[in-house]
Amino acid sequence: MMSDSTFLPQSGLAQLLTELAAGHRIIGPQVEQGAVQYRSLQGAAELPWGVRVAQQPGSYRLQRQGSERAFAWANGPQALKPLLFAPRESLWQVVKTAAGLSFSETLPPPERLAVIGVRSCDLAALALQDRHFLQGASPDAHYARRREQLFIVAVNCSHPAATCFCAASGDGPNAVSGFDLLLDELDEGFLLTPGSEAGQQLLAALSVSGVTPAQRQQVEAQRRAAAVQQRTLPSSSLAGRLLELASSPRWQQIAERCLACGNCTAVCPTCFCHSEQEVPQLDGEGSEHLRQWDSCFSAGHSLLHGTPLRADTAQRYRQWLTHKFDSWHQQFGRSGCVGCGRCIAWCPVGIDVTEELHALCGDEA
Ligand code: SF4
Ligand code: SF4
Repeated sequence: MMSDSTFLPQSGLAQLLTELAAGHRIIGPQVEQGAVQYRSLQGAAELPWGVRVAQQPGSYRLQRQGSERAFAWANGPQALKPLLFAPRESLWQVVKTAAGLSFSETLPPPERLAVIGVRSCDLAALALQDRHFLQGASPDAHYARRREQLFIVAVNCSHPAATCFCAASGDGPNAVSGFDLLLDELDEGFLLTPGSEAGQQLLAALSVSGVTPAQRQQVEAQRRAAAVQQRTLPSSSLAGRLLELASSPRWQQIAERCLACGNCTAVCPTCFCHSEQEVPQLDGEGSEHLRQWDSCFSAGHSLLHGTPLRADTAQRYRQWLTHKFDSWHQQFGRSGCVGCGRCIAWCPVGIDVTEELHALCGDEA
């Protein structure tokens, strides 16, 4: 695929953003509240130049390296998920009229978004969210409205975090599909590879040149180095294995540390569970139906006829890990984990899914 690539000098990034801005609102990585987060991007100067990220179980720290790169950081707390599956939104409204009740769908306004900086693991997560929200008898109209407008500029990871294990899950660190344009960042600029007709059109508007053999070698070496990661998964497939470990004492040992806070499910780019709620107007003239993210760790998530089926933390953690790594295989033909490592870094007590899976399966990490 690198044979399609061209070279854009670092000074050309402003031109790329200007071309993108002609048809889209751009969302890009920026440092906010001590983390790299996706926000509306006005120009290249707002990107996290010279920022790297050190991540460990329960720890995420920005580091200023003084390098001149804009994308040398590993994933922040956000994936694409909140941009497409809103944390809280209205699905429909109902109002009283003279003729009776009138229902109306509250779809988000059409907006063309372009996201720059997307990583390979998050492209894999997006593909899973697409399957959940768009395939089947009734595609989700809110997700579909946002998804059909999305333009993706992916960036291959040059500096994965210690918490990343996308190489083990098979979802990174180098993107192969699911993007419109792919960037490999070097000190002096970027290799650009188109992934769609729209990406090809954008590329055609830029002042690019051919890739030199030295640049190609540098990118190949960078891609190989990024695939060397510390964390691993058990060597054989987990499909059907965790369900057989439902009585393991390890679940209780995890529960003694787990706060049931739900951070892991909030940052996970593939978790899609939600709850719905009716919010009546105070004057009794109408009502709004809201959807919000939910979590395996909330009491209400397993509530049936007033009784929580999973009453304690051990059962809730078991539900999360077993669904994510085992029963997803029956549902989607693959694991629900793309190896982004967010649940490890953003767990306040540093519970590490890879360590727990090795312990449960009796494998060495
Ligand atoms: S389970 Fe953890 S590592 Fe896997 S995709 Fe979700 S947040 Fe990322
Ligand atoms: S595993 Fe960590 S992040 Fe997840 S609910 Fe427990 S304490 Fe919170």
